[in-house]
Amino acid sequence: MNHSIDQGPHRRGRSAACASRWLPVAVTLFLAACASTQVLDPVATAAAPPAVATAPTEVSRVAPQVRKTWRFDGDGLRFDNLLPAARLSGVERLGDGSYRVDIAPETHPVNPSAWYGFRVHAEAPRALELRFAYPHNHRHRYVPKLGTGGGEWREAGPGEFQVDAEGRARLWLQLDAGELRVFAQPPLLPGDVEAWSARVVAGMGVEPRTFGTSVQGRPLRAFEFGAGADAPLLLVLGGQHPPENTGTQALMGFVEALAADTPQARAFRDRVRVLVVPLLNPDGVVEGHWRGNANGVDINRDWGPFAQPETRALRDLLAARGFGAGRVAFAIDFHSTFRDVFYTVTEDPSHVPGGVLHAWMAAMQAGFDIEEKPSAARTAVFKNWAFCRLGAPAVTYEVGDATPAAALDEVARHAARSLMAVLLEPPRPMAAPACPQFGEFR
Ligand SMILES: [Zn+2]
Repeated sequence: MNHSIDQGPHRRGRSAACASRWLPVAVTLFLAACASTQVLDPVATAAAPPAVATAPTEVSRVAPQVRKTWRFDGDGLRFDNLLPAARLSGVERLGDGSYRVDIAPETHPVNPSAWYGFRVHAEAPRALELRFAYPHNHRHRYVPKLGTGGGEWREAGPGEFQVDAEGRARLWLQLDAGELRVFAQPPLLPGDVEAWSARVVAGMGVEPRTFGTSVQGRPLRAFEFGAGADAPLLLVLGGQHPPENTGTQALMGFVEALAADTPQARAFRDRVRVLVVPLLNPDGVVEGHWRGNANGVDINRDWGPFAQPETRALRDLLAARGFGAGRVAFAIDFHSTFRDVFYTVTEDPSHVPGGVLHAWMAAMQAGFDIEEKPSAARTAVFKNWAFCRLGAPAVTYEVGDATPAAALDEVARHAARSLMAVLLEPPRPMAAPACPQFGEFR
């Protein structure tokens, strides 16, 4: 059994794919697609001119962060943004023990995911007040996480941190001598994600592989496990938006449940192949970006333009591996936002009673208070591309910024077990997806 990511071309004709021996719902979708020209095979479209509207993607407007140290010798303090994932644009002394920290995004306009991260080093114990300042009236978003470099983090308490009605934040610290790290979330760096990936697949004889490179030349990594290369695929994506660590944590619990040594997970892996891309935007994470890749582009608006190397690399990987229309049984993309919410596609035929998406959402909502927001597949986000181009039931799985780790992990594992149960059931007939608005992607 070949578990590795095959770099060679595996172009599959429609007739071969249509003869797939196992027929889950999505493959039934594909059978319908075989008789139709509605669903385009990305193997074919990869080499052809893009069929979707290519609204100009904003490139090269990113303002690089200057990595530096700000010294205030009279107070025995220094600040820096030298760590990976740090973001700090300026520091100004306001008065005795009071400082303003300026945090600017990588570009403007930008989604208001006001990520920050810096170190403050004190020569002796002292009290310190920090006032956060953002350009363009951005509001403070993340409660500060405090660490001393040993891997332990704690959230600033209500007595230490306040945000006023205008979104202006203040943090009061009682510093010990030495360094304190102040970050929007504990950073999840490419090396952390890589170490996790290696642990997950260690027992399966599989290794993560590089399938492309980011704008700054970092490797884009993926791993596969489960049934053979001809089996239906569960596609798991994460890390498109740099600050969204709770989404990546949920991805980790979800994938660990798929990889678990349980009867259900073993049966699932006998029938379904899993492809995991846990971090598609490593540059954005390392640069401490609010939203974009190294070009300052939101890559989750690039599934149509394909103007960025990260999205192109994953599109081309799927095409090279033969995971075209009808081969993907389910696609799930992990993110974070202000609350737990699942975004689905309004037109998805698997959302009718008896369909994969309906059954999975029902199982999720039976166990947890999960909000679902369906919307039309109009924008060039991954979920819409996976639905319209691959014919896959597709979900954007959003985790609240402040959802506690134990709670998000419990929901993520429940999500995986529910999805495994649904995908292991016999197929039910479905109509092909229709995406009349796909040509209007923007
Ligand atoms: Zn996101």
